[in-house]
Amino acid sequence: MIAKASQRIVWAAVSQRAQARYISASSLRCADGVVPPVQAVPVSATPVYSNSQATVEARPAVTSTYTGSSPPPPPPRPKRSRARKWVVRTARTTLVVILGTTTYVIYRSWSNRHPPQQLDYDPTKKRLVVLGNGWASTSFLKGIDTTDYNVTVVSPRNFFLFTPLLPSVTVGTVDARSILEPTRFITRHKARSVEVYEGEAESVDPVNKTVTFSDTSKVQGEIEVTTIPYDELVYAVGAENNTFGIPGVSEHACFLKEIQDAEKIRKKLMDCIETATFKDQPDSEIDRLLHMVVVGGGPTGVEYAAELHDFLVEDLQNWYPEIAGRVKITLVEALPSVLPMFSKQLIDYTTSSMQGNKIDVLTRTMVKKVEAKKLVALDANKNPIEIPYGLLVWATGNTARPVTKSLMNALGEPQKGKRGLAVDEFMKVAGADSIWALGDCTQTPYAPTAQAASQQGQYLARIFNDLAKRSRIEAALSEAQTARDSARAEKLQREFAKASKTLPFHYSHQGSLAYIGSEKAIADVPFGNGTISTGGFATMLFWRSAYASQLFSLRNRTLVLTDWVKTKVLGRDVSRN
Ligand SMILES: Cc1cc2nc3c(=O)[nH]c(=O)nc-3n(C[C@H](O)[C@H](O)[C@H](O)COP(=O)(O)OP(=O)(O)OC[C@H]3O[C@@H](n4cnc5c(N)ncnc54)[C@H](O)[C@@H]3O)c2cc1C
Repeated sequence: MIAKASQRIVWAAVSQRAQARYISASSLRCADGVVPPVQAVPVSATPVYSNSQATVEARPAVTSTYTGSSPPPPPPRPKRSRARKWVVRTARTTLVVILGTTTYVIYRSWSNRHPPQQLDYDPTKKRLVVLGNGWASTSFLKGIDTTDYNVTVVSPRNFFLFTPLLPSVTVGTVDARSILEPTRFITRHKARSVEVYEGEAESVDPVNKTVTFSDTSKVQGEIEVTTIPYDELVYAVGAENNTFGIPGVSEHACFLKEIQDAEKIRKKLMDCIETATFKDQPDSEIDRLLHMVVVGGGPTGVEYAAELHDFLVEDLQNWYPEIAGRVKITLVEALPSVLPMFSKQLIDYTTSSMQGNKIDVLTRTMVKKVEAKKLVALDANKNPIEIPYGLLVWATGNTARPVTKSLMNALGEPQKGKRGLAVDEFMKVAGADSIWALGDCTQTPYAPTAQAASQQGQYLARIFNDLAKRSRIEAALSEAQTARDSARAEKLQREFAKASKTLPFHYSHQGSLAYIGSEKAIADVPFGNGTISTGGFATMLFWRSAYASQLFSLRNRTLVLTDWVKTKVLGRDVSRN
């Protein structure tokens, strides 16, 4: 009753509003199908929505032409324009996308922050020791099935570092913590608990299968050095900066390999700028302090010079207008060109773009000696030159770490290479039993890149997972044979044969990317049998999206994307902390 009455009230209210504009009779169809002549019906002045009785009184003026008791259909709704429909549809889709993304982000961050219960150490399983937590080890840790192994990780730092964005940290485009991922965020999500020790491997004993490592952090406990056994050792300690034995490099240059290197460069850069603005500083000293020299024309050196240029143009000019015009960037490279791994076309594009950005590129220039305030080099014509500098960044490549050199010595004859550990096509260290090596610490035909290291890590995890699977099948096979279950034994034999096919490591090149400054990047991307070479602003967007997608976690991705927006909107921070 109430519902019907309210329905009438609603209809009456609607009809009154419609009538207020005069109801066209053509919109009302009679029960016998006869359309009454078009006639404007004046609105009844009777109040219609005070109660149902009033409604009944009001209706005859409009409904007198109807037969039957059902109310007449509502007047037609005005037609929506196409544009309005499009706006409504877009708004609805956007809302659904926003709600979906928010739910996903909340769910992912909740599950990331609430790791599950893990299996305990199992003495019946093999002990797998992983040295390092860089690109190779982290990708290995992600792939390994810990139900089959007891895993221990040893590394002097307790986080994974996303090195491709390290140059952006040197000037504050990206915050240091945005590109770090604590190793425990990865290991706490494994099926079995993983031991993680912050320590530096000092030596590996390949005969007794042990690793000795020490706590090299500032805070030390009663135990500083310890030795652990391994059944299998995954050796991925990376490499250190190569100074080529040039005097003064270690003492005076800044390197760019670890997060603390990037932070040191940022501080020193601001120190040079503040010192250059010190009262009554002589002109020659201002020029020296504001001369930023980068040695090494590979991707690291080029990207650092590019970030420095952006910082200068986008921020320093606003806050230090009196000296910004005097800041000079020089890139020194011993080879005939920068970025030798890129196509000729992109090398030329980069060189001209850097010259446009007023970055001096000195190719065929060999540094011979580094002093506190200047470096001495031989120019392209072999003439000695002196280059005064305020900040010197050394980015010339890798050499083996002392611990790797000592392992190579211990293994003797099969390890005669210079760049790192010789491995076979399954990443097994030559001349060693149960030692596998990955990434920059190895001597392989591949360039020392994150791409190669992470692919090797994934590959080795698959090998170990297959080895464990084979052991499981073998155990089941011997049970089936004991029980004389020939059908099952045959099936298991087939499975065993399949799991025993171990393919050698195959590197798949996904392309080379580098940021070259002024919102431009270059990319050589394999396509079909060839390569697509591109450069410019669109490539910079591709470069950013590629790195954003490769970042290890949702947390990293969110932080880096926020940093990029922050830098664009608020600028970079110039405080020297
Ligand atoms: C600034 C910069 C930018 C780069 N950009 C790119 C890029 O854009 N694309 C690309 O493909 N590659 C890039 N690279 C190269 C890439 O970072 C390396 O090739 C990659 O890190 C190699 O991985 P890795 O696991 O062998 O070594 P790393 O990632 O260096 O990891 C080595 C690990 O071993 C640990 N360790 C060191 N000593 C010991 C010890 N004694 N005991 C135990 N652990 C130890 C370290 O703490 C670290 O965790 C860049 C490198 C730098 C420095």
